[in-house]
Amino acid sequence: MKYISTRGDVSGIGFIDAVLMGLATDGGLLVPEKIPHIPAEKLQAMSKLTYQELAYEIISYYVDGEIPQNELQEIIEKSYGTFRNSEVTPVHKVKDNMYLLELFHGPTFAFKDVALQLLGNLYSYIAKKTGVTINILGATSGDTGASAIEGVRGKEGIRICILHPHGKVSKVQELQMTTVHDESVLNLAIKGTFDDGQRIIKELFADLEFKNKYHLRAINSINFARILAQTVYYFYAYFQVAKEKDINSLNFSVPTGNFGDIFAGFLAKRMGLPVGKLIVATNENNILERFIKDGVYQPGEFRSTYSPSMDIQVASNFERYLYYLLDENAGAVTALMDQFKSEGKIVVNEEQLRQVKADFAAYSVEGEECLQTISKCYAETNYLLDPHTSCGVAAYETCNDPGEVCVTLATAHPAKFNESIERCNIEQPFPEQISQLFDKPQYLEVVEPVNDEIVRKLEKHFSSGQTK
Ligand SMILES: *Cc1c(COP(=O)(O)O)cnc(C)c1O
Repeated sequence: MKYISTRGDVSGIGFIDAVLMGLATDGGLLVPEKIPHIPAEKLQAMSKLTYQELAYEIISYYVDGEIPQNELQEIIEKSYGTFRNSEVTPVHKVKDNMYLLELFHGPTFAFKDVALQLLGNLYSYIAKKTGVTINILGATSGDTGASAIEGVRGKEGIRICILHPHGKVSKVQELQMTTVHDESVLNLAIKGTFDDGQRIIKELFADLEFKNKYHLRAINSINFARILAQTVYYFYAYFQVAKEKDINSLNFSVPTGNFGDIFAGFLAKRMGLPVGKLIVATNENNILERFIKDGVYQPGEFRSTYSPSMDIQVASNFERYLYYLLDENAGAVTALMDQFKSEGKIVVNEEQLRQVKADFAAYSVEGEECLQTISKCYAETNYLLDPHTSCGVAAYETCNDPGEVCVTLATAHPAKFNESIERCNIEQPFPEQISQLFDKPQYLEVVEPVNDEIVRKLEKHFSSGQTK
């Protein structure tokens, strides 16, 4: 298994190099040269596996022997041993034809842990094996930062710097990131939005001299390992539902921001999992919904919403999908991405738009509907949705046809977003791990969203790690 860039100027690199490279050196995203196809008999056999065993099977296709079996198994065991549920990502039946895939049983109570626990252990393994320096740089809309810090803190030879939009993340998200007191961790709160942070990171990673000098590694979902870890739970969910229900295919409704999680579902489908509709659920930051309806990908005005982890206008992983939409033609992807840079939008043709509509359904959820969905679900079933999952459930209600079975990805625990839950006049108990955060001191620096200033902070933070 080799990895190539969606822009065509990187090819033939193995799994470990793909993890280390993050963003491809030509500015594109790394994808597998060929997506493995899992035959039906093999799927049948996989349906009996535990989460960890299943993860090993799926991830093995992509690691392709670069990590010995026992060591890969150990990495997986360690990564999911931190989850509070023995099933890792259990499926909860809400009512007939409607299921939730609970992805929030990891250390930071959001689905990002599923990928970042694994990535943290992969980095640690690679650092030990190869002696390379791992300096992680990432931007977060809230959950990735906490989850990435949790994934690498205390691991030898790893430093991390996370940019988050100052005042635009939930209180619990902020506390989870900034109460970690460890010299390997630097939190920069930028006076701007997530898109500003993501743009800065992308520019710093594109500056190859800087990237190489400071051994910068990515934890954003531009890193293919994250996507890979997330494909596992699509398989797992399918097998759990199939155990109690006769299904030929299964829809998934996915709260979407950066297009990472939904792309993992797209990948699972390409690998042969009988996925029906992939429903893209967004909040008012609905660039993806507009694209799926009209074929025009154009950022709109940024809106702060009840579901801040999806307050994203430029979806990094979208380029991966574009690559498959354009029949794996890297030249065509490059042309469209250049057009995006110069004109600020991408327009696909009619035939391509038909394909987009065959691949995805989409629905954008306004704030009031998000809150109403939380209240209604709580009143009817006593299940408390977080505001991101609520967008997923609202999109399921709109896009799932009667007779179709759908799993909505429950991407976070409601306690992470109590600001939104309180607006529904619902009082919730906090898990112990979250309530104890409120008494801890915070460590962060507030900065302007200007590359130079951030570069200076990074140089200081990452060079202090070089002496080790
Ligand atoms: C990150 C996040 C999302 C969006 O996931 P993407 O991979 O960026 O599409 C949705 N819900 C929650 C709670 C998140 O943390």
